Amino acid sequence: MTDIIVVGGGIMGLLTARELARAGRGVLLLEKGQPGGGTTWASAGIISPHGSSGAADLAGEAGTRLRHPSYDMWLDLPDAIREESGMDVEFRLTGVLLLALNEDEKRGIQEKAVTRQWGDTEWIEPERLPGEEPALATNLAGALLVKGGNVEVRRLGPALEMACRRAGVDIRTAVVSQEIIAAGDRVRGVRTSAGDFEAPVVVICAGIGSAHLAGARPAPPITPQRGQMVALDARGIGVRRVLMTVNDPYLVPRTDGKLILGATREFAGEDPRLTAGGLSWLLGAAIETVPALREAPILETWTGFRPLCTDYLPLIGEGHIQGLFFCTGHGPTGITPAPLSAALVSALITGTEPAIDPVPYDPKRFD
Ligand SMILES: Cc1cc2nc3c(=O)[nH]c(=O)nc-3n(C[C@H](O)[C@H](O)[C@H](O)COP(=O)(O)OP(=O)(O)OC[C@H]3O[C@@H](n4cnc5c(N)ncnc54)[C@H](O)[C@@H]3O)c2cc1C
Repeated sequence: MTDIIVVGGGIMGLLTARELARAGRGVLLLEKGQPGGGTTWASAGIISPHGSSGAADLAGEAGTRLRHPSYDMWLDLPDAIREESGMDVEFRLTGVLLLALNEDEKRGIQEKAVTRQWGDTEWIEPERLPGEEPALATNLAGALLVKGGNVEVRRLGPALEMACRRAGVDIRTAVVSQEIIAAGDRVRGVRTSAGDFEAPVVVICAGIGSAHLAGARPAPPITPQRGQMVALDARGIGVRRVLMTVNDPYLVPRTDGKLILGATREFAGEDPRLTAGGLSWLLGAAIETVPALREAPILETWTGFRPLCTDYLPLIGEGHIQGLFFCTGHGPTGITPAPLSAALVSALITGTEPAIDPVPYDPKRFD
């Protein structure tokens, strides 16, 4: 029997479905493509309580309150996923270096670490940087080493799908959800390309697709923000840690020697094409940071779309229709806060005590 329909099988939908199935609920997950194949697949997979570059700041204090405990949940999650799915998501705690390109940036980073009480950080003066990260340019003003690492998002989707299926989640792929069906103020199910599915609870986890679902109240004010990405073969260069600059780009070393460079932040609708300007900026800025990348072969390029909410905070909780829940709109930083977001919406659905105050993320803040 279906107790709950989850619309969308990205990191939010998969973790939410997994959580609800483990709580004994009958869960049906509807995905228009392949689970984990949307924005989650396109992501750089940086996991850090301090977010990814300046963009995470836009979510303010409420964003921080979601990210910090969620980061702690990440420390155990990869082992749990391996146990449940038999798959390794290549989660590595490399540490993250926040690079200061000049004295102004140095002051800004150091100030932020103090005022936001980041704790557990280490300032590395320029003369020590070659020992920490030999490939870095030699003209930097220093770097702050903070907690964090990254996960191979291309493995995350398949592993979570496997974990969900083994937990009893019924996953239907190539099914496009079109409309939320309600009777009065109560949700009844979802109209899809494969017919109607009924359940007393529906959770919208459709990323940028959340804005297109007819009948949802609120209609999530989510805009796609395009990010152009490049993967280089950097085996010979050996970047050790996640490297972040204040205004992007960031550089993320995967376990197989691939280096992920990201990303532009553009509003271009859902046009998935790369641009000459985007790529030349990304490659040029990355080469300035790690000069040896000039010779690195390009392995792959792609674009992804951040599900950006107008107030930069996600929608987590029940909307204006009884039984219609949301876990979506996480924008540029959605991988780090995903475990807590899924736990939060699941607690609100099952009526258990939420781990943090859900009010700042309440979907009812929108009409
Ligand atoms: C270039 C880039 C780099 C990023 N880097 C990072 C990072 O380093 N760290 C970090 O924390 N975050 C990062 N993010 C953000 C993060 O990737 C997202 O916030 C997160 O993946 C959103 O997950 P989601 O499950 O909400 O969306 P998605 O992964 O897009 O999942 C939504 C799913 O719903 C499905 N769907 C949509 N519409 C429908 C429909 N009508 N019917 C059925 N199914 C539907 C889609 O096919 C998709 O599978 C990055 C994003 C981008 C674009």
